[in-house]
Amino acid sequence: MNDLDGAHDLVPDLVVALIGFRQWRLTGGMLTSVYDGADWTAGRLTARCARGHEVPAKDCSCGVYAYYDPCPRTASAATPDLIGGAVVVWGRIEAHIYGMRGEHARIVAVELPLSRGRKRRAVIETAELLGVPAVTHRSLKAVALEHGAVLQPALRPKKTVTRAANVWSRYGPV
Ligand SMILES: [Zn+2]
Repeated sequence: MNDLDGAHDLVPDLVVALIGFRQWRLTGGMLTSVYDGADWTAGRLTARCARGHEVPAKDCSCGVYAYYDPCPRTASAATPDLIGGAVVVWGRIEAHIYGMRGEHARIVAVELPLSRGRKRRAVIETAELLGVPAVTHRSLKAVALEHGAVLQPALRPKKTVTRAANVWSRYGPV
């Protein structure tokens, strides 16, 4: 493909699932998206769009969001209910600078909090229910790589021009 302007188009023909990283809110055994409240309790999500088109679309903000790199180790630490983890993303995928929007995603690991006590126990319980490991921040990426590949930097746009860019403009929860 010679058209560099098309670099933010849908990622073409990937054989393997991609790994990504994100956070969730864990309250009362329910796992939900921090950003839009989508229910992740089953450990997987297929994104839908209220506008009714295929997900994700370039001029829309729909899709399952995941960062290419693990969220900072301290990102979830200050709150009682935010947890981090890794996902695999597949189906239609649109690449952005710091992360991607995908059609389907499944949790493959959750991150143990720094603190001991109730939150840590809740994370371990959640991992058991999902059938995924609860691992340290340090090993999260390696565990994720057992399930898929990192999106090659060459396939990531250098700048994002779609509406979804607004969401990525800060390193916030998705
Ligand atoms: Zn949409």
